[in-house]
Amino acid sequence: MSEPSLAERLAQVITGVGPISVAKYMGAANAHYYATRDPLGASGDFTTAPEISQMFGELIGLWLADLWLRAGRPEVRYVELGPGRGTLASDALRSMATIGLIPPVHFVETSPAMCAAQASSVPTAVWHAHLSEIPQDLPWLLVANEFFDALPIHQLIRHGEGWHEREVGIEDGRFIPVIGKRLPDEIIPPDLYDAKPGSIIETCPEAVATMRLLAQRIGGGSGAAVIIDYGYDGPDLGNTLQAVRAHLYADPFEAPGEQDLTALVDFSTLQAMAEMCGVAVYPAMAQGEWLRRLGLAERAASLTLAQPDREEEIKAAEKRLSDPEAMGRLFRVMAVTSPDWPKPAGFD
Ligand code: SAH
Repeated sequence: MSEPSLAERLAQVITGVGPISVAKYMGAANAHYYATRDPLGASGDFTTAPEISQMFGELIGLWLADLWLRAGRPEVRYVELGPGRGTLASDALRSMATIGLIPPVHFVETSPAMCAAQASSVPTAVWHAHLSEIPQDLPWLLVANEFFDALPIHQLIRHGEGWHEREVGIEDGRFIPVIGKRLPDEIIPPDLYDAKPGSIIETCPEAVATMRLLAQRIGGGSGAAVIIDYGYDGPDLGNTLQAVRAHLYADPFEAPGEQDLTALVDFSTLQAMAEMCGVAVYPAMAQGEWLRRLGLAERAASLTLAQPDREEEIKAAEKRLSDPEAMGRLFRVMAVTSPDWPKPAGFD
């Protein structure tokens, strides 16, 4: 008999025990999704900034190297969360090396398929299943691009007299969102409590826990982190759970584990957690403006000079990364550093 699919296993659990939280559904779906494929690029489901152009990883590498120089050239480790194909890391490491920064590389990755792709881009990397496994003997230079948006969110929904967990049930063989158990009033932000029926608030405990851990390590030792993702300033109302398959939006409750599930990242909550841990915080700003300040236009011009036949492609990539109508505004960049490190480039 063949192994049951993830959809069959989730259906069995829901039928047997009852609906499961959106977080449990999203966590199981994404773990299966990433473990069983490389979803990036034109032939996959979605394209990320480092896959659009080498300029993205190169500018992040230069941003890190500049900070490292001004921090006095300490011995450091390069750490990346969810490195995808390793493209960002290999572009960043190449530009860091031009300045004399050649750190050991640590990847946090749970998917065997992605680890294999990363091994061909950065063969010297060391892999870890969790951030807590990375040695703390040296400062970290940490990068996370489109990592936090893949972490499972809980959805809370206004219904009847109060707020409930939004859960995933099953009806006629299809997964559907349902109203789950009533939640304690104390956990609902007071400003949002009286929202109209059906309103949704999202929380991502794994994102907050990851931010706490990295800020504690950076605040307690030293180093810096840059987090890039699409996000908003929460807590706020809104349903941002989305599924993408073959570059098109899909129903998140269809085909669990076969399409990419993401949610917008609540940068204010990450910032509040980082501040509690005593690191210097540079609040999230628009990716387009940040890249421009780091020299995106100049890098595009020098690449074009070296390869004039690629002019159109380079121009298109520059636009896609920085234009407010493309990735320039929705994507945001936030940084934290240990309090005794200099101010990183690009932030106000
Ligand atoms: N940063 C890459 C890839 C983004 S896709 C880029 O910009 O191209 C999300 C990445 O995070 C994938 O590599 C995925 O396998 C990994 N990932 C998702 N959830 C994870 C988790 N809980 N722990 C570690 N890695 C995870």
